Amino acid sequence: MKAFHLMCKPVSYSCNLDCTYCFYLDKEQHVLPEKKQMKMDDQTLELYIQNFISAQEQDEILFAWQGGEPTLAGLDFYKKAVELQSKYANGKKIKNTFQTNAILIDSNWAEFFKLHNFLVGVSIDGPDFVHDHYRVTRSNKGTHNKVLQAINLLKDQKVEFNIITVITKHSLKYAQEIYHYITKNIGAQHIQFIPIVEHRSTLNEQLIYPSPDSDSLLTDWSISGEQYGLFMQDIFRLWVTKDVGRVFVQLFENALTAWYGYTPSLCTMRPTCGDALVLEQNGDIYSCDHYVYPEYKIGNIKQQNLNKIINQKKQKQFSSDKSKLNRLCHECEFKFTCHGGCPKHRTLDIGLTHKHNHLCDGYKIIFAEMDPYLKCMVKLIQSGKPASQIMNHIYQVSFPENSI
Ligand code: SF4
Ligand code: SF4
Repeated sequence: MKAFHLMCKPVSYSCNLDCTYCFYLDKEQHVLPEKKQMKMDDQTLELYIQNFISAQEQDEILFAWQGGEPTLAGLDFYKKAVELQSKYANGKKIKNTFQTNAILIDSNWAEFFKLHNFLVGVSIDGPDFVHDHYRVTRSNKGTHNKVLQAINLLKDQKVEFNIITVITKHSLKYAQEIYHYITKNIGAQHIQFIPIVEHRSTLNEQLIYPSPDSDSLLTDWSISGEQYGLFMQDIFRLWVTKDVGRVFVQLFENALTAWYGYTPSLCTMRPTCGDALVLEQNGDIYSCDHYVYPEYKIGNIKQQNLNKIINQKKQKQFSSDKSKLNRLCHECEFKFTCHGGCPKHRTLDIGLTHKHNHLCDGYKIIFAEMDPYLKCMVKLIQSGKPASQIMNHIYQVSFPENSI
């Protein structure tokens, strides 16, 4: 039995916002139209909690709640969930993560998160002029102020939180403002940047996943590989000169792990997929959050044992498919850290055995930028020093007259 992630979506795609770039909202029309009862029922919740704990051997079990918008299940749903976790814990330590747009977070939610030690991921794309461009209500109103209020409540209660920021066409020229806003104004220490890459059919309004056909076009808000690379290069330059050891940017932390010679935890940077499954509100299990499509459904916890579901051939195949790389990736100096990137971004048909990653140009820019710094950090760590000492080296190179 090995550890695996099973992200739970208690209300499926239901959401109280209408973010332009959301890839899950259109599930209602195209993938999960039959799911009219939108909240996970008590029986499914209990089965999930019992089976997820017993299916893993390790001492700490990590529950992940997501959506859609998971707060729509209501606070009582999660009170019940933590009760059930205690009931079935069997001596194991339970941790919960909760990914939210934060609109419904009030002091009751914040107190609950603190009481039960939840790690809360809040989606905010930067200051209001960036965030409100795409993260809007159904009446097209910006949501930034609401999110900021919620973050302040979480801070008041000392709830552990991190920030998830989507990089869109609109945010490209604001990398520095976004980074300063998140790390200084909000004071967040953990940030994930997510590049948006989506294709839409030219024949209808449907978003196309996972493999766009030749007629589909990139959505207006999607970014190119090069744009992604330049954005993250700006962020890296700010981070490496001022914030190493104080701010944790998911991509940089995982890259350092790879440069050190270990396998990163971030699935896109691992050689294979397959350990990040999704549990839908009706008990259906899918191979990955980005592959919630009928052909990637691998079972239902009300009908089969969870271990059997995740260990079946179909899921193993999904996992190993990530390692099918084309010649360019096999020959690439950054293969050790990139592994061809996420399969959902492998959309470029350039006449090779396998499609190429849309973000490749960006990966090369950012990995090349990071390379000398990460090598230096690895040396520091190997000699028993903190990686943050890199900032002293940079300072001494920039201002040699101040060196001791
Ligand atoms: S398909 Fe992409 S997001 Fe899903 S597990 Fe694989 S690398 Fe991760
Ligand atoms: S950087 Fe590009 S060529 Fe290199 S492994 Fe990643 S996707 Fe492949």
